Amino acid sequence: MKIICVGRNYVAHAKELNNEVPDEPVLFLKPDTALLRNNDPFYIPEWSNDVHHEVELIVKINRLGKSIDKKFAYRYYGEIGLGIDFTARDLQNRLKEKGLPWEKSKAFDHSAVVCPEFVKIESLPDRTAISFRLDINGKTVQEGNSALMIFSIDNIIAHVSKYFTLKIGDLIYTGTPAGVGAVKIGDRLEGFLEGKKMFDFLVK
Ligand code: ZN
Repeated sequence: MKIICVGRNYVAHAKELNNEVPDEPVLFLKPDTALLRNNDPFYIPEWSNDVHHEVELIVKINRLGKSIDKKFAYRYYGEIGLGIDFTARDLQNRLKEKGLPWEKSKAFDHSAVVCPEFVKIESLPDRTAISFRLDINGKTVQEGNSALMIFSIDNIIAHVSKYFTLKIGDLIYTGTPAGVGAVKIGDRLEGFLEGKKMFDFLVK
């Protein structure tokens, strides 16, 4: 399986990092070794002093597809999850300054937190307006709603599948809303989708 991530998919987040609002999705990949599952603790890597949380809705692909038309994109996923795209912001900024790829800062081991269980699309009140949030130590730090995405889930699937064949089990991280920030040892991260707790783990 592969993990495809969308960068800068919410206007307020693009602005908080002084990035331009993109006219097509910014994509990057993480390998399967990036996954952190089952509410396992996240260990801050020793080579970064500024690992940021980015809470994101995750789309789980459930059929093979290439060059998918936007109007058929809904057929390629049936479940939504929640996770964290951990980002070593200090390293990412150094790489960006040099015009180099971001991989080391984005795709490192355990940088892709995935919730233990996904929710079925049919169980959501509105598949085009999915609310989610991240609490750290009991305080809400990020809040998002898929209705505020620059590129909708269906648009993302159409765009991604022009370049990468989608396979069953692939995960698409759909971008983070504003409010990103550094995590520290001892933090407890809890993610909620439509008010339902999706993950709960510690930073060590
Ligand atoms: Zn992200």
